[in-house]
Amino acid sequence: MSKNDVICVVCPVGCKISIAENKDAELGYDIEGNKCKKGINYAIEELTNPTRNIASTVCIEGAHLTRLPVKTSEPIPKGKIFECMNEINKIKLTAPVKMGDIIIENVRGTEVNILATRSLPDI
Ligand code: SF4
Repeated sequence: MSKNDVICVVCPVGCKISIAENKDAELGYDIEGNKCKKGINYAIEELTNPTRNIASTVCIEGAHLTRLPVKTSEPIPKGKIFECMNEINKIKLTAPVKMGDIIIENVRGTEVNILATRSLPDI
């Protein structure tokens, strides 16, 4: 199988890791370029099930700001990012909102929630 290059984002070093399937290798992959073991898990995850966190904002009325910052409670599959962003873009809230409130539960069936990352009281 072909070799894939990924940049590890687990720490600021940002190792460039090469990964290729190899059925005879202990983990099933040949992995090079990682400076620590965390890079091994990261590279395998990135190859088999890449995920990302989303940070965005939603509309809110009745507060001193017109946008409320939100984020995913956990990383979501990379292929679901656009679907989830469409759901986030549909949201229109009314203040008050507390930091940590669930804005969307189980967004697009990912079992991940969209959470408020700050409180906005009503005015
Ligand atoms: S492999 Fe280790 S040292 Fe390199 S970026 Fe990832 S966590 Fe940092």
